Amino acid sequence: MPGTEHIGTIWGRSFSIMVDHGEGIYLFDTTGRKYMDFTSGIGVTSTGHAHPKVVKAIQDQAAKLIHGQANIVYHQPMMNLIDEFFFSNSGAEIVEAAVKLAKQATKRTNVIVFSGSFHGRTHLTMSMTTSKTIYRIGYQPMVAGIHVTPYPYAYQLKLDDEATTDYAIHELKKVLKSQSAPDETACIVLEPVLGEGGYVVPPLEFMRELRALCDQHGILLVADEVQSGVGRTGKWFASEHFNVVPDILITAKGIASGMPLSALVTRKDLMAKWITGSHGGTYGGNAVACAAAVGTIQAIKEEHLVENSLARGAQLLTGLLKLQQDFAAMGDVRGLGLMTATEFTKVNGEPDTDTSKAVVKAAFERGLMLLTCGTYDNVIRWIPPLVVSKAEIDEALKIFAGALDAVAH
Ligand code: PLP
Repeated sequence: MPGTEHIGTIWGRSFSIMVDHGEGIYLFDTTGRKYMDFTSGIGVTSTGHAHPKVVKAIQDQAAKLIHGQANIVYHQPMMNLIDEFFFSNSGAEIVEAAVKLAKQATKRTNVIVFSGSFHGRTHLTMSMTTSKTIYRIGYQPMVAGIHVTPYPYAYQLKLDDEATTDYAIHELKKVLKSQSAPDETACIVLEPVLGEGGYVVPPLEFMRELRALCDQHGILLVADEVQSGVGRTGKWFASEHFNVVPDILITAKGIASGMPLSALVTRKDLMAKWITGSHGGTYGGNAVACAAAVGTIQAIKEEHLVENSLARGAQLLTGLLKLQQDFAAMGDVRGLGLMTATEFTKVNGEPDTDTSKAVVKAAFERGLMLLTCGTYDNVIRWIPPLVVSKAEIDEALKIFAGALDAVAH
């Protein structure tokens, strides 16, 4: 795009538009064109763009106190949010925090993660990330002590839920037997709905068996809800769908509607084992970011956005399943709440990256912004703001049908 040549090429970019402002589920570019933003800035703008309650919370706090450094003083917005919480700025930083806490609390060294996971781009979290090689290319070697076991991805494994659970638990037990002994394993880090790796919902039984295995060996279960948290899946946290309580839960993205904030919550006994002063950061728990989070949570509660996520997610899933009947390339439709996906597959069963990318392009030309995900970028993820209305979901489905018609036969 002309006029952007001086911007670092390290950033890839999905859409070549210059955004002027956002409102609700819409983005407006500098020419005045309007787009339905079903990316939510990668799952961040939970209350939509410029929600009045969030904007007011930010404005009021910015006029009072922008930075009250957490090691130096207390400030009220953090007090309004806090309950055995630790705060940071980004998803990667909060994953780092969770692993560091797990290591100190258990006095163990190793971490187990799942194939296809995305946990961030710092050196530790990159080493925990196996969704795509692009995140580690040229940066080898990885941090030591991280072991990978298969995610229970039923569609890709071509198994039913029961067989998927058996396979994934069997492989995890094998890792504990052959690579990282339980006594050396501090934590198992799992995305309760796999995000960048393809929006995969694990079987209920897998989650129960995973919890039991962690309890059996004194391994801490860390739920990375950076993407799936804060109402996204139709519950406050995706872990609730499985009735599984993690030892450490981390979240970010949707918590502050776009201000940089991430949070870690855990039990008092674990928090007490985290040595004071051994972790932190200059900006973690910033006053304006905390105020934005308080405004976000207030808006989610008052406007019943968790319930809306569930209802609109069901509407979206029904609409996509209907479209699947006419478009064979839509191999799988799945999701929880407004964390929903369509996986594109060729007749021979191979991932159909070309079609998913062509559909995203055709949808964009028609005013609907969508993102792909998955190791092969053959999954289109549906991740609109939680404020999306019934009519807006219908409109997006109509645009998507038109895009499918144009490119996928
Ligand atoms: N964990 C999960 C599950 C994520 O989806 C992401 C980002 O997409 C991260 C961690 C890293 O977050 P950030 O990009 O804020 O560092």
